[in-house]
Amino acid sequence: SAVPQSASSPTETFTAGAKIPLKMKAWVYEDFGDVNVLRLDETVSVPEIRDDQVLIKVIAAALNPVDYKRRQGWFKATDSPFPIVPGYDVAGVVVKVGSKVKILKEGDEVYGDINEAGLNNPKQFGSLAEYTAVEEKLLAIKPANFDFPSAAGLPLAIETAYEGLERAGFSSGKSILVLGGAGGVGSHAIQLAKHVYGASKVAATSSTGKLELLKSLGADFAIDYTKENFEELPEKFDVVYDAVGLEEKAAKAVKEDGVVVAIVGPVSPPGFFFVLTADGAYLTKLAPFLENGKIKPLNDPKSPFPFSKVVDAFIYLETGRATGKVIIFPI
Ligand code: NDP
Repeated sequence: SAVPQSASSPTETFTAGAKIPLKMKAWVYEDFGDVNVLRLDETVSVPEIRDDQVLIKVIAAALNPVDYKRRQGWFKATDSPFPIVPGYDVAGVVVKVGSKVKILKEGDEVYGDINEAGLNNPKQFGSLAEYTAVEEKLLAIKPANFDFPSAAGLPLAIETAYEGLERAGFSSGKSILVLGGAGGVGSHAIQLAKHVYGASKVAATSSTGKLELLKSLGADFAIDYTKENFEELPEKFDVVYDAVGLEEKAAKAVKEDGVVVAIVGPVSPPGFFFVLTADGAYLTKLAPFLENGKIKPLNDPKSPFPFSKVVDAFIYLETGRATGKVIIFPI
């Protein structure tokens, strides 16, 4: 049958044989607050794309702590207007491309963190929706060996782990202590330090039940924070990557010329706090390590949560006990 390949009317678009609807299902909130502000709306307009953006049919998404901090109003001074569709991490299929998009094309399987500056004017229409509009530069081609749910869990966490290690000047032969090794960011900080940078020694912290997991990710030794105070150990590290928010204790565990990477709160120099600048190029750079299995996704065993159960997924993430990523699939 003859399917129009380009816009056929101002209100309807057809692409690669699949019709893009005008309205979609999306999770929205119109007030800051707890999970009760979340509502599944079936009549949200499918976002328009700008010249530098593609429209993605979302297949899987993942939650990050920033999603609930944002929903609680932590960043209200710089947030987008209501109604807000939350969601940073996405994996899906390109169904439409803007006129200035250079490489991506319809049908490409992509993933990424859709907010370049996560706390400053994050997108009003995020990834917890059937469609989302994203700048090409924030996306990368999904590694073929990853399914959509696993890909969705990577971008924000692995990009943060990577940018922090780069900023710290981490390199082969250095030692590192990762606080929060079983979380989204920490699990990637361990893997990257060990398998990409060639750390001389990787230590990491978690509660008792997750110590073996830390070792399987590449930790040479795992510290049970319910039994030991890492800051009192005689061994000091070139880098302490603090993904928990223990900046003062972290500063006690670095060598004299070492550096604390802080992502939760401020830390005194030479430690530094930073906020991720999302970039699809990070994912492309790491693609060889994802494709050869050196770096593995870590999806929480309670996930994926189906799209209808996003509230349960948030409640679970907000316990602070998730192991790796909380995935939303299918969407
Ligand atoms: P997660 O929700 O994935 O972290 C959950 C994990 O944290 C659990 O496995 C838990 O393990 C572990 N954990 C909790 N408390 C401790 C503790 N005292 N010691 C060791 N481990 C602990 O979070 P993310 O990794 O996604 O994010 C971590 C933090 O970093 C968040 O505050 C987030 O907002 C922030 N962040 C900041 C970014 C930035 O750009 N600045 C970017 C990304 C995240 P257990 O059950 O064993 O306690």
